[in-house]
Amino acid sequence: MRIGHGFDAHRFIAGDHLFLGGVKVPHYFAVEAHSDGDVILHALCDALLGAAGLGDIGEHFPPTDPQYKNMDSRRFVKIVKQLLDKNHWKISNVDITLVAQMPRIKSYKLEIKHNIADDLGIDPNQVNIKGTTTEKMGYLGREEGIAAYAVALLIQDKSA
Ligand SMILES: [Zn+2]
Repeated sequence: MRIGHGFDAHRFIAGDHLFLGGVKVPHYFAVEAHSDGDVILHALCDALLGAAGLGDIGEHFPPTDPQYKNMDSRRFVKIVKQLLDKNHWKISNVDITLVAQMPRIKSYKLEIKHNIADDLGIDPNQVNIKGTTTEKMGYLGREEGIAAYAVALLIQDKSA
């Protein structure tokens, strides 16, 4: 078994929606990003790549590469899943924490869980989504941006 950790943060800019776990969430800010800036899916990709010893999201999908402009981050997750398959890694579980003063993800959690389970070809009970604030402390508390942490546990199965 191998464990991996991922972290991602994006700055808020003017706008009216953002993407969290593949769900379009209405908000009074957008995020500054080359892709769709989905912090949940970016942290998840890094946790999965980390556990598999396959580097990080920036190496696989360079922000300087025009083909990733405004990219739906669910595509990144699907590509990472293919890399895991190729290297005989099976996913035991993933656990993700969104850190944001606003928006709150309570009403989107179930949809996010199902998006991730679908894209990774796993059961929704292998995916946990949590949301927390920093009680208005720091850059996240001041609503300068949004961040997410993820951990993933993989099991290598050479017979598969
Ligand atoms: Zn990101």
